[in-house]
Formats: sequence, structure tokens, C-alpha cells
Amino acid sequence: MINFDFLGGGNEVGRAAVVVGSGNERFLFDYGIEVQTGTGPIQPDLPLTAMFITHAHIDHSGMIPELYKRGWKGNVYGTGATHGLGTMLLKDSIDVQKKKGQVPHYQRIHIETMNNYWKNVDYNKPISVGKSSVRFLDAGHIPGSSSPVLETGGKRIMYTGDIKFADTQLVKGTKIWKEDVDVLIMESTYHYKNHPDRKSLENNLRELVQNIIYNNGTVLIPSFAVGRTQEMLCILDKLGFPIFMDGMGIRATDIILNYPKFIRDPKKLRKAFSRARKVHGNKDRKEALKDPCVVISTAGMMSGGPIGYYIKRLYQREDCALVLTGYQVEGTVGNVLMNTGRYVNEGVDAKLKMPYSFMDFSAHCGRDNLISLVKKTNPEKVFVIHGDGTQKFAKELKGMGFDAVAVQNGDKFKI
Ligand SMILES: [Zn+2]
Ligand SMILES: [Zn+2]
Repeated sequence: MINFDFLGGGNEVGRAAVVVGSGNERFLFDYGIEVQTGTGPIQPDLPLTAMFITHAHIDHSGMIPELYKRGWKGNVYGTGATHGLGTMLLKDSIDVQKKKGQVPHYQRIHIETMNNYWKNVDYNKPISVGKSSVRFLDAGHIPGSSSPVLETGGKRIMYTGDIKFADTQLVKGTKIWKEDVDVLIMESTYHYKNHPDRKSLENNLRELVQNIIYNNGTVLIPSFAVGRTQEMLCILDKLGFPIFMDGMGIRATDIILNYPKFIRDPKKLRKAFSRARKVHGNKDRKEALKDPCVVISTAGMMSGGPIGYYIKRLYQREDCALVLTGYQVEGTVGNVLMNTGRYVNEGVDAKLKMPYSFMDFSAHCGRDNLISLVKKTNPEKVFVIHGDGTQKFAKELKGMGFDAVAVQNGDKFKI
């Protein structure tokens, strides 16, 4: 008998956390935070046998130190890149929560305790944990991202985390669909649509950048520090235009380059990064705005980070452009901008004359890939998490003959 406890990520994108137990062993897959509100999932009971972390994004990792604050003394398993990037994002998350007037769930000291219990894993190498074993597969989502496959109680359970099938300039796509599993716990962020072809997207972006810069404009690209920033660098470097990097993406790139085996072409990224100009303060920002260039800056959803500095100075310029490249969560500055054409943040409410657009550079796979994952892994049970409207998707999978459930937070199952 295997128990499944869904603590977060049920019919929502955020605060992922699932406990899988068999006999007296209990494993926690991911322990994330809800990015906007700073709320965590339902707390798992302690002790746990071990914790498996799929990747550094804080909707999957943001609560880990809270377990150590509560006195847990177990191991957390993840790739080296997840550890390096995660540590940076966890520290930042404390600052962000404080800035928003929220009470942080833990302090820096608890991140240090976590570091003592972190065990680096390699892709595809089985690791024994108690009577069970776990293997981390490459998830193709961001550098170091993984999909753990747990063998426990005679069953093979795959927890996808966030996945992408197609290659990007930064990472190779996943091959997890090659596995044969009994239970599949799957993300479903884009169960309702497919993404455009990456190559044509890249070309469209290069063309846009070229046009704006030839007309003496500046292109602003708000980007997530981890993943998108580095992908943008790889795509745009070969144009040869000046690229300025601002915000946490600089440190994230440094960290990623310390783990070259988790990226597709470390040489290319290293070259692009060394050529890019790093912005450290307002003096550099002024400099960046003097001549036509590309600015890649956090925050990806524009709620924070230095991107606001540039928008406040360029929003009336019709010869410049703002390009959003990632998912914009409801209520974020980027989401409001997409819906209203206004930049509303920190006391500023401005209608943009600067043209803005959205390009779907998703790090998640789309609908067809999600369905083929289920068909190819052919599980006896599918739990659908990490998405909105998951009920509809689970129903569709049922129609295809799979025993699929859209779980809610707090749901418990026995298999
Ligand atoms: Zn992610
Ligand atoms: Zn996620």
C-alpha cells in the first residue's frame, strides 16, 4: 500500500508539495511557496525519510528551509545546479517577503542548515534511500531541473516537476516519456494549449531587436533570473548588438556556468555572458540608455527588480520596445500591463506609448506533449497537479482510458 498526500499545487501553479509513503518511509517531493502571496503548502508531518527537489524555482523549493527550522534532520536530494541556484533564490525570497511586509517562513541560518543536509545527485543514477530507491531524470525545464522516479513498495512513481520536451538554446529537452511507470504525478501548466515552434520564435525576436536597434531604439526584455535570462543571451548574442544585463540574472548566470554539464552549450553561454555588459547601479543604467541596445533585466513579471527604472524612462518612446517572454501570473505588474497597456507599480501609473508584445518562450511543454507523456509512460494512475482547470484535463485523460485525477490540496489517496 502506498499513500499519497497532496499538500500543495492542487489546481494551482505554485507551492508544489507531495508526500509519498510506503511502510514507515515517507518522501517529500518538492516544497514550494506561492510566489505572489508568500504562502506555503500544508505542512508535512515530521520526520520524513528524505526530500527530493526537482528544480530551483521557488514554487518548488521556496519552503525547504522551513523543515530545518522545525528541527528536521533529514537529507534533501537534488542536482548541484538546483542547489546553487536554489540557495540564491531562497535568500532572495526572504528579502522579497520582508519587502512585501510578509513574515518570512525562515531565516538565512536555516538555509545554511539545509546546505549541510543537501546531497547532490547525477541524472540517471539510482540512489538507495532506506528500503526505496530514486533516480533523477533530466526534466529539460531549466539548468539542473529533474524528474525523480521513486521505486517504493513495489511500485515505480514518477513525479515530473516542471518539464519541457523541446530543446531550447539553453537546455536540452527531456526524455522522461521513455520510462514505464505505475504512478505518474504530472505538471499540467499548459494542458490547454501548445506552444509555437521555438526556432521561429527565436527568429521573430531577433528580427524585432534588429528593427528597433536600427531605428535607434532600445529593447527591454524583463526576464526571470534563472533560465530565461541565459536563454535570451544565447539567442541574441550572435546579432552583435550591445546587451546590458541587470538584476539577479547576472549572479544566476555566474552560478549556472559553475555547472556546465547542466547546459546545452556552455561555451556559447560563457561567450555571450562575457560580452554582455553587467549593470551595477544607476550610473551604469544611465550609460545603458545612452545608445541603442538590448536590456535583459529582472523581474520577469516586472513586480520588482531594476526593470522599472528603464520603463519609467522609456515608456513614451515609440521607437523602443518591451518584450515579455514568460508566463505573467495574475495580479503581477506584467499581467496588468498585458491586460490594460498600463505600467502600474510603485506609485506610477503610465500608459505605454512604447510598443509591447508577448512572445511565448515557455519553459514548459504544451498540451500534445503532456498527453503523449501519459500515453507513453502508460501509468495505472495519473495525478494531475501544477495547473489551473486541471479537472477538465483529468476528464480528457479519462476519456482516453487513463485513471486520472485532478487533485486538490489536502487530498489523500491509497494505492
Ligand atoms: Zn519551474
Ligand atoms: Zn513550477
